[in-house]
Amino acid sequence: MKGLAATLEGNDGIFNIEELEVPAVEPGTILIRNTGAAVCGSDLHQRRNSMASDTPKPKKIAGHEFTGIVHSLGKGVTTDSLRRPIAEGDRLVFPFFFPCMRCINCLKNQLHACAYRARPNMVNTFEEYPYCDGGFSQYFLLQPNHWAFKVPDELQDVDAALATVNCSMAQVMMGVHLAEVDDGDTVVVQGAGGLGIYATAIAAETGASQVIVIDGQKARLDLAMRCGATSTIDLTEYDSPQARVDRVRELTGGVGADKAIEVVGVASATLEGLDMVRTGGTYIDIGNIVQDEISMPASKIIGKQLRWIGLAHYNPWVIEACLRMLVRTKDKYPLLDLVSHTFPLSEIQSAFELAEWHGKSGGSEATRVVVTAE
Ligand SMILES: [Zn+2]
Ligand SMILES: [Zn+2]
Repeated sequence: MKGLAATLEGNDGIFNIEELEVPAVEPGTILIRNTGAAVCGSDLHQRRNSMASDTPKPKKIAGHEFTGIVHSLGKGVTTDSLRRPIAEGDRLVFPFFFPCMRCINCLKNQLHACAYRARPNMVNTFEEYPYCDGGFSQYFLLQPNHWAFKVPDELQDVDAALATVNCSMAQVMMGVHLAEVDDGDTVVVQGAGGLGIYATAIAAETGASQVIVIDGQKARLDLAMRCGATSTIDLTEYDSPQARVDRVRELTGGVGADKAIEVVGVASATLEGLDMVRTGGTYIDIGNIVQDEISMPASKIIGKQLRWIGLAHYNPWVIEACLRMLVRTKDKYPLLDLVSHTFPLSEIQSAFELAEWHGKSGGSEATRVVVTAE
């Protein structure tokens, strides 16, 4: 059996569609037939090479924010991670990375920070098992004992939205969890792309008394207001870092926000965001996977007694929490309509060009772009 995959090689950012061998299911594994993969900010950073050196990158299948249905179950697999029976054709959401379970980070239940966290599609050559395996491809193999969560029946005809659960939504669910957002907290969300919109709704559902969302696009800010934001700060109106920091202070009784979450991906946003948090508050950095530098007084974090947490990935339980929240809030927030554009796999290049915000004044017009696996 063969499957199609979009591969990237070197630094030119041009995808090739290739036909690759599909791995046979081995005992304990689940072969997923992908339904769609979203273009995540980190995919954009990678394609544009803003995270790494100039050395040409080996060929790989990009894409990690995706979902699919059970194509075939390996011997011994009969249920999802919550012991619910699964069969061929069932929709599953699963982490795209594989914690090793044998390092100190895993033993401390920091599965998101596993030091040996594998992503087979990022390290293998395509002549080796599991071949056709990744987000922007038609198949993905879940390793033995990997986590997988059955999609609730209440979520029908939302395959494009489901593609965004295992990265953008799960990522900020973990962020809000680590921030320990309490009832009544004031929360700033920097950036109202896919992650920012999810973060807004999750913070609101967690009990925040205020969710202040910052972005430069009116359409995104309007969407944030429909997804739990209590106020917004438009970058075109508040056009300096100090003006935005002052506005956050003003909205929070002069003290700054209890918690702030960065999902922008521009280094300077971190510096600005740290100033928006009150003394003793918490700052969660998720978007800044870039190499750009920031500088600040060494005493700043201590002086303000901040908890400054860098976060990538998540613990698998958050996926189930996301699915339950999508069911619970489906008539409250338009979270299942966040995907603004879809493209077939053969048009992945156009999908990336549309999703790209770098170099476009005002950013991309797209909230989230999904590439279907057809
Ligand atoms: Zn991602
Ligand atoms: Zn580990």
